[in-house]
Amino acid sequence: MSLGIGIVGAGGRMGRMLIDVVQRQPGTHLAAATDRSGGEAVGRDAGELAGQGALGVRVGDDIDAAVAASDAVIDFSLPEATEIVAAACARNGRPLVLGTTGLGEAQQAAIDGLAQQGAVMQAANYSTGVTLLTALVEQAARAIGVQSDIEIIEAHHRHKVDAPSGTALRLGEAVADALGRDLRQCAVYGREGQTGERDRQTIGFETIRAGDIVGEHTVLFGGDGERIELTHKASSRTTFAAGAVRAATWLVEQPPGRYDMRDLIGV
Ligand code: NAD
Repeated sequence: MSLGIGIVGAGGRMGRMLIDVVQRQPGTHLAAATDRSGGEAVGRDAGELAGQGALGVRVGDDIDAAVAASDAVIDFSLPEATEIVAAACARNGRPLVLGTTGLGEAQQAAIDGLAQQGAVMQAANYSTGVTLLTALVEQAARAIGVQSDIEIIEAHHRHKVDAPSGTALRLGEAVADALGRDLRQCAVYGREGQTGERDRQTIGFETIRAGDIVGEHTVLFGGDGERIELTHKASSRTTFAAGAVRAATWLVEQPPGRYDMRDLIGV
C-alpha cells in the first residue's frame, strides 16, 4: 500500500523538491501539502508548483487538516511552524520527519514532547553522505582531536537565513561530545581584530554565504606538520529530499521516540 505523505513548507525550495520525490518514488504519494497562510503557494496545485503538472492536491494553510490526511508528515519550513506541526502530529498520531533548522528551546521541547507519544526523526541533514561524515568526524576527533585545532567551515546559498548551518552545529556537537567538551563553552563563531593566539580547546566555525551553493561542510583537524580535512559537498537538494522520504517510510514502522539518520543507515 502506498504511504500518503503530507508536506509542510510545500512552497519552499525543499518543499517543491519533496513533492517531486514523493510522487516519483514507488510506494509513496502526496497526501497533503501546506504552507504559510497568505503565502503565494497556498491555493496552487502542488504538482504544478513542483513542475510536474497538476496532481489534484491543492496547497492549503491548515496544518492540522494536512496532518490528519497523511500517514506521515515531512516538515521543511521555518521554526515558527514547528510547535504547531508537533502538536498536530501528537493529536493525530502521525510520525514526523523534521528537517527545519534553527530551532529554539521551545521548539526542541515540543519535539521532545511529541517523542513521548509518537515517532519523530530530527536531522540537521538528511543526506546519507553527511550522516556518514558525522560518524567519520567523531572517529577522527577521538583519534587526533586532542592534539588538533578543529575548525568547521560551511558554505550555503545566499537565501539561507540561519548561521552556522544546522549541519555545522551538529558536526560541532559530534566533535565536542567525542572530546568530552561542551560546545556552548568552546565554540568560536568567526574571528575579527586582535583575537590573540588560538586556544586548542576551542572549536571554530566559519560561514560562507554565496550564490546558489546547495551545501558544503568541511571539518578541519590542524596539527603540527599536517592537517586532515573531511568534506561533504551536496550538489542537489534531491539528496536531502530522498533521505527525508526514506526516513518517513522507515519511521512509520518505529515505536515512539526520537530518531536521527544514523539510526536509519546504521552507522
Ligand atoms: P524556503 O524558505 O525555500 O522554504 C520554506 C517554506 O516554508 C516557504 O514556502 C514558507 O512559506 C514556508 N513556511 C514558513 N512558515 C510556515 C508556516 N508557519 N507553516 C507552513 N509553512 C511555512 O526554505 P528551504 O530552503 O526550503 O528550507 C526550509 C528549512 O529546511 C530551513 O530551515 C532549512 O535550513 C532546512 N533544510 C534542512 C535540510 C536537512 O537536510 N535537514 C536540508 C535543506 C534545508
